[in-house]
Amino acid sequence: MAGSGKLANVRLPPLPTVGELIKLYNLRAEKQLSQNFLLDLRLTDKIVRQAGRLKGAHVCEVGPGPGGLTRSILNAGAADLLLVEKDTRFIPGLKLLSEAAPGRVRIVHGDILTYRMDRGFPANISKKWEEVPPNLHIIGNLPFNVATPLIIKWLNNIADRTGPFVFGRTQLTLTFQKEVAERLTASTGSKQRSRLSIMAQYLCTVHNCFTIPGRAFVPKPEVDVGVVHFTPLVQPQIQQPFQLVEKVVRNLFQFRRKHCYKGVEKLFPEACRDELTQEMMQKADVDPTLRPTELTIPHVRALADAYAHLCTREPGLLSYEFREELRLKHLLRKGDTPVDAFMDT
Ligand code: SAM
Repeated sequence: MAGSGKLANVRLPPLPTVGELIKLYNLRAEKQLSQNFLLDLRLTDKIVRQAGRLKGAHVCEVGPGPGGLTRSILNAGAADLLLVEKDTRFIPGLKLLSEAAPGRVRIVHGDILTYRMDRGFPANISKKWEEVPPNLHIIGNLPFNVATPLIIKWLNNIADRTGPFVFGRTQLTLTFQKEVAERLTASTGSKQRSRLSIMAQYLCTVHNCFTIPGRAFVPKPEVDVGVVHFTPLVQPQIQQPFQLVEKVVRNLFQFRRKHCYKGVEKLFPEACRDELTQEMMQKADVDPTLRPTELTIPHVRALADAYAHLCTREPGLLSYEFREELRLKHLLRKGDTPVDAFMDT
């Protein structure tokens, strides 16, 4: 693995262009893997600049594909670049890049959703959580079809300080469909405010850096793309387990246009719904007539704290899922016996 800061010349030597490589290796984009390539190196440089100073840094690039963004990361001076790519067709082209930057590139043929990034970098780059972030960055022009599950998984990892966050407050610079980027960064009261806004912002400082028009990609996707930068917060704004926060937020947002207590009600079984909803709203001291989109993070914190308090008193509550109850009721209405309905879950 390359050491940091010993690089006399970080710029890559002359290479075939990314477009030439695509032709050379016959790299037709696969729709199934959401492949939309960025060939304009000014744009890939601009994405990489959002990550901050990369000289001597350790970087993991997600889905390097034909390697446009990869070149920009290397030209920015990364000392140790780990590439995680699922599609074998790109490996020969990435090896060419690796040869042009000796000792600086490691290639993993694998799936980023299951890759153990906690084992991908040396422990000595770690920083304590309270310190400045480690010199480790995750950068990626993400496949659209994995972008949302991946960021949710990483937010969960941030809450638990696992995965890429065993090294400290690792920063992320990632692309998303413009609409998802807007949701991630939406402020209270805005139209795009959603589950993702709360889940991301209670754990991170989230910045919507800029939008890339769809026409900049080959092939052109249906949508524009937003570049989003995340820095995990030293102190999460909600001090409850990720799964509990996720459950409260998911229930709150299931009726976006209704008063927020409507979503809170669904946290509780029918038999005690009214009573516990009232108790939770009172304890949290949140106006029940606010819409979910009008809730601030402190409001959600108060609601999550109040729900955690009720769950401690009545432990069965935590496993209650309104949608599951509905599904079972529906199956029973269709004539199944309770056992059939249960077997179907
Ligand atoms: N980074 C390249 C660029 O900007 O031109 C390619 C971007 S393309 C949108 C997404 C890339 O991610 C493709 O190379 C695809 O093969 C790869 N990919 C898709 N799913 C993946 C996964 N689960 N793990 C790792 N790579 C994946």
